[in-house]
Amino acid sequence: MADLKFRFIGGASAVGNLSLYVEMDGLRMLFEHGMTPSKPPDFVPPAPEVDAAFLTHSHLDHSGTFPRVARDMDIPVFATPPTVVTTPLLLYDTLKIARIEGHDVPFDRNDVLLLDESFHEVHYGKYEEIGPVSFTPHNAGHIPGSAMYEVNGSRSFLFTGDIQTVNTHLVWGCRPVKTEVLFVESTYAGREHPPRDEVERAFIEKIHEVVDRGGKVIVPAFAVGRTQELLLVLAKLDYDMWLDGMGRTVNNIFLQNPEYLRSARKLKKARRRFNVVSRSSDRKRAMDGDVIVTTGGMLEGGPALHYINRLKDDEKSAILLTGYQVEGTNGRLLMDEGVLDLYGRRERIRMEVCFYDFSAHAGHSELVDFIRKCDPEVVVLCHGDNREALAEELRGEYKVMVPDDGMEYGV
Ligand SMILES: [Zn+2]
Ligand SMILES: [Zn+2]
Repeated sequence: MADLKFRFIGGASAVGNLSLYVEMDGLRMLFEHGMTPSKPPDFVPPAPEVDAAFLTHSHLDHSGTFPRVARDMDIPVFATPPTVVTTPLLLYDTLKIARIEGHDVPFDRNDVLLLDESFHEVHYGKYEEIGPVSFTPHNAGHIPGSAMYEVNGSRSFLFTGDIQTVNTHLVWGCRPVKTEVLFVESTYAGREHPPRDEVERAFIEKIHEVVDRGGKVIVPAFAVGRTQELLLVLAKLDYDMWLDGMGRTVNNIFLQNPEYLRSARKLKKARRRFNVVSRSSDRKRAMDGDVIVTTGGMLEGGPALHYINRLKDDEKSAILLTGYQVEGTNGRLLMDEGVLDLYGRRERIRMEVCFYDFSAHAGHSELVDFIRKCDPEVVVLCHGDNREALAEELRGEYKVMVPDDGMEYGV
């Protein structure tokens, strides 16, 4: 009864360029079409012909090669309003970074525009139909507007994208959805997050310590999601705090879509605690402040590099990383070897470097709990490099699949 066929085009076994092709009741669907922001960036192979495409959220590991889909096919791309607005920002930034570093990208600005025109806005809990199947987006709890897609036809399946089951300051955690076939991310398979309140306490303590010893705190953060979560965490501090990079624009986008936030009021209030860098002379003033929250999250570009370049020999100052640093990125290089590629030169960084797990992904036991509550017949694990840890735990209860990229499967 293999009336549901699927094939991962990329990202089945890695936290990177995710893309999944699914065929059900004759309808050909594409979920995500991402890239890995390594050096050089890794783009997912081309997608086969499809009838419709779905994007769960704007992060580049899910969206980074989507413009090529829009160029090659005239199809609707379903996404929530915050995703529709933030995705082009990240894609234009990808083009900019690639141009500076001389890397090839399989799309151009026109293709991003085409993608923008292909977007069809969908909303949490609102049922939609495409030919023989229907679908409903649900809150994925990962960042504002992140969606899981429940698809119903002769079979039912749920594609989660990235999920977080725990409430964060920014968004409510996701809820399980009853389904037959569950395509679930497994970024944190085999790993647990420390309790969020402990992470926050340690993060705040470190900031006090660095400022007290006369240093400055640089907090590189992903523009979409993490920056806003950090503003909410830092809002209670009484320091001279600055915000720089694309996170500023994303704040405005999120505040224009308040129904996707846990509390728009709190985000607005938190934002007021920060001075915003709006011209280059502000960067000098920010350097006189105490804390600077700035893109990019993996130090691949963005004003974070400007500040670190100025402070790199200052042992009193610190870089507080707050997100997963993908293999092959500048941020990973800093964590593993204490050096950074700064404007084409490898430099030793004498600032203190710390990592705080502000992950927006469910940890191992949260994933297990979520999967059990979805109560599927088949669990398809993807978007993780340690899927066996989850598979082992679930095998007695469900049919568990750990697919490879490029192989076709039927369920
Ligand atoms: Zn994500
Ligand atoms: Zn992801």
